[in-house]
Amino acid sequence: MPKALIVGNWKMNGDIGTARKLAGAIVAGSSTSNCDYLICPPFTALSEVSGVLQGGVVRLGAQDCHAAASGAHTGDISVGMLSDIGCQYVILGHSERRSSHGESNALVKSKATAALEGGLSVIICVGESELERKAGTALAMVEKQVVGSLPELSDSINTVVAYEPVWAIGTGTIPTTEEISEMHLHISSVLEREMSDPNAEAIRLLYGGSVNPKNSSEILRCARVNGALVGGASLEVASFLAIGESCP
Ligand code: PEP
Repeated sequence: MPKALIVGNWKMNGDIGTARKLAGAIVAGSSTSNCDYLICPPFTALSEVSGVLQGGVVRLGAQDCHAAASGAHTGDISVGMLSDIGCQYVILGHSERRSSHGESNALVKSKATAALEGGLSVIICVGESELERKAGTALAMVEKQVVGSLPELSDSINTVVAYEPVWAIGTGTIPTTEEISEMHLHISSVLEREMSDPNAEAIRLLYGGSVNPKNSSEILRCARVNGALVGGASLEVASFLAIGESCP
C-alpha cells in the first residue's frame, strides 16, 4: 500500500497573513509518520507559503495551471511559474473548475500533460453528479473521466487520482463506505488497464467530499483509499491534522 497523502485544498480563501499562520501551524503540528501532507493555497499566497514550508516535509501545490508555457493568456498561470515558486503538485479537473469554467476531460488532460512535462506531479479529480449516481451510471461516468483526463506520461509516482463525488463536496453528505470502496476499486482497475506503468496498482487514490475528523478514519480504511482531498476542514489546523492522524 502506498503511504497515505492528505491534501488541503484551500480554494479561494484567506489573505497572505492567514495563509502564513495556517501553513506555519500545519508545519509545527504535523507528523508524517503515517501520511504525507500537501497544501494547496490560492495563487496569491503560494509565494508566502512556499517560504514557510521551505526545507520541511509538508509539500506545496497549486489549484490549477494553464497548458501553455507562456503567452497571451490573461489571468492564467503556467507550470513554469508554479515550479519557480516552489510547487511540487497541481490539482487539475476539480469539479468546481469543470462546472464553472467548463473544463473538459481533454482540457484537463492537456494541462496535466504540461504539468508532468514541466516536472510537477498532478492530482486529477474525477467524480459523478448526484443525477449520475441516482441513475446508476456513476462507475461509467467516472471511468470516462479517468480515461479522458489521464496523460500518457502518467505513472504511479507523478500522478494521483482524487475521487470526489460532486454531490459530496461541501455538503456534509458522503457516500457509504461500500460505495467509496466500489468506486476506488473500479478506478484502480481502470488505471491498471490504461497505464503503461507496471506499478499502476501503486498510484495513490484519494477520496474527497466532506471529509472531516469524525468520518475520516472510516473513509481512510475503505478499499484502495490512499488518502484524502480535503476542502473545508483543511482551513482549520486541528481538523486537518486530525484527519492525517486518523490514517491507518
Ligand atoms: C474539495 O473541494 O476538494 C472538497 C473535498 O471540499 P470539502 O472537503 O469541503 O467537501
